[in-house]
Amino acid sequence: MTAPADILEEQRFDAVTVFYGAKRGKYPHGNSLLVRGAHETVVIDPSLGLVVRGASAPRADRVLHSHCHEDHIAGAYLYPEAPWHFHVADLHGIHSLDGLMELYGYPEPIHSAWKKTVVSQFHFTARPDARGFRDGDVFELGGARVRVIHAPGHTRGHCLFHVEPDDLVYLADIDLSSFGPYYGDAWSELEDFERTLEAVRKIDARWYATFHHVGVLEGRDAFLERLDRFTAVIADRERRLLEYLAEPHSMAEIAQHRFVYRPQDPVPFAEAVERRSMSQHVSRLLRAGRAREVEPGRFQRRDA
Ligand SMILES: [Zn+2]
Repeated sequence: MTAPADILEEQRFDAVTVFYGAKRGKYPHGNSLLVRGAHETVVIDPSLGLVVRGASAPRADRVLHSHCHEDHIAGAYLYPEAPWHFHVADLHGIHSLDGLMELYGYPEPIHSAWKKTVVSQFHFTARPDARGFRDGDVFELGGARVRVIHAPGHTRGHCLFHVEPDDLVYLADIDLSSFGPYYGDAWSELEDFERTLEAVRKIDARWYATFHHVGVLEGRDAFLERLDRFTAVIADRERRLLEYLAEPHSMAEIAQHRFVYRPQDPVPFAEAVERRSMSQHVSRLLRAGRAREVEPGRFQRRDA
């Protein structure tokens, strides 16, 4: 007998408790962390999973965000009295709804529809007084501490958190899923993400926690095995793009063909994400001389 997917689990470590979202945090759900110290308790990335807990959502004195994306801020409104913190590079997204929309950079009509969705389904609440942190900043909670590790690419201000005494690294949206790295927003950068993936390989921790459904992995070997597969998705997208460019194609055709999402995935912003993601691959193929613009706006593989 399998448990119903809507029974939400919690997993206790030392200072950390993981609050799993529905479907173990598969998007649009996510897994939130609570870190309890002697003086202070912080919640990290309050998700829809905390919203459905309602009155039994955990209390917190402070809210830390790995980055400013709808699924990671969906439960932040449950903590109106607590200070909210983001990396300085993502603060713009929480200051106003228009700021958040700049971070996505979607064209119309996706822009207007998405702007409504982040409010109605993800409870976006602007916080002009949100505070900024930087790489290396430490939150001392009393017997427990959270250290910020800037890991840009997914967004400009995307960060990981290392929690002691658990020796747990919260990987946020380096989510180790089979979907692979997401760099489909205006404020995403493929090559920053690749540098980040190189850097996180060196992190040696006991536990590795992700925001989405992979959950918590124990030990560096399990982490590296997943990380390698996750990273390989980037090269696979580029290989499939090169195959497709045996014939000349425009960016519109490349976006329509789909390299990030599967053709059957009903994602409202897919066209924008495909375009942003794959234009970064096209740009670097052009720079490397592996593709050329055979006529304005149409690209083909060099050896084709
Ligand atoms: Zn994200």
